[in-house]
Amino acid sequence: MADEVRYREAGPDARLAGGQLTIDLRALQANYRALSRIAGKAHTAGVVKADAYGLGAEAVVPALVEAGCDTFFVALPTEGIAVREAAPKARIYVLGGLFGREAAEVYAEAALVPVINTREEAAIWEAVGHAGGKPWPCAIHVDTGMNRLGLTMAEARALAEENALTGALRPVLIMSHLACADEREHPQNRLQLEAFRAVRALFSGVPASLANSAGIVLGRDFHFDMVRPGIALYGGSPGGRTGMHPVATTAARIVQIRHAAAGETVSYGATVTLERATIIAVASAGYADGLHRALSGSGVPLRAASAAGGQGFVHGRRVPILGRITMDLTMFDVTELGDGALAVGDTIELFGPNILLDEAAAAAGTISYELLTSMGRRFHRSYVSNDDEA
Ligand SMILES: *Cc1c(COP(=O)(O)O)cnc(C)c1O
Repeated sequence: MADEVRYREAGPDARLAGGQLTIDLRALQANYRALSRIAGKAHTAGVVKADAYGLGAEAVVPALVEAGCDTFFVALPTEGIAVREAAPKARIYVLGGLFGREAAEVYAEAALVPVINTREEAAIWEAVGHAGGKPWPCAIHVDTGMNRLGLTMAEARALAEENALTGALRPVLIMSHLACADEREHPQNRLQLEAFRAVRALFSGVPASLANSAGIVLGRDFHFDMVRPGIALYGGSPGGRTGMHPVATTAARIVQIRHAAAGETVSYGATVTLERATIIAVASAGYADGLHRALSGSGVPLRAASAAGGQGFVHGRRVPILGRITMDLTMFDVTELGDGALAVGDTIELFGPNILLDEAAAAAGTISYELLTSMGRRFHRSYVSNDDEA
């Protein structure tokens, strides 16, 4: 029966883990289908870099294949190899470029399609990327305004002219990436769109792709032949547009409940002084490792983070985080729930159906992408999917 539910487990034993990460693959599939509908005639690929945004490519990729996805994007060749195992027939693009000639041979072996970002990479692939005389496919990435990866417009033009003569490369996709798609009214979206149209004209007959999740929401002009959603598949709110199904739910186990008096302080630095007698739930989850967004060179409005901090959700109510989060533990003010309402062993949702991923990320002064990809390996993971084998 299609509605029977199947569970799969990963990570430490549930009874021994401080936190639970539940990944609803049915919601993931529903998001894929919803994005495909918006994309209309354009093909919908799945971006599964960084282990499917931290949710586990091994489970996410087959679920997307089941939903009809046959094209994947990863950042690194190692990720491509992992996706190849999970999706033997899919087309797999590696965004991060070719890591030199030796790596290029591995791409060919695993039938990964490199995204060519420089003239040097094009030359390597011309030399290595062919079998029996026929060039292996590649994608060509042109930078239209992000200054991250990709050929410049002039380089793209030169490459297109050369390749028209030699046929040494077999581009199967021409792509670019939007820098400001999250801001619908940002003038750069139009500028990149026009630049991309010019790029596309250089490679006639080659399918084109510009839009990430937020780009899809910008409208049909941005869809071209293929769209590349990542975060929206995982329940993010592209361009602030809510309505994707929540895919990941995290919950932390309560390990102690304490009663503290007015005037006492909580956690490191004693940054919060209690104004009333307070019931505190101590939950077994804290900050993880990571290159924090606070390190950005400029332009990250960290001070826009919610001044009051994050919240949890337990027994139908939101409960605020008290004081500083520590490495392994976080304290919540559960006074409003009343004495005896909570017990050690209960769990507090950190984000999921009741506290949206984007809301939790905003409270942390960061974005959904960073929150998801830093979810700890110490969490017990369970995957929920439909059992359509029976
Ligand atoms: C990560 C990435 C995507 C997916 O972006 P989302 O905002 O997560 O949808 C698409 N294209 C490129 C080039 C990327 O690096």
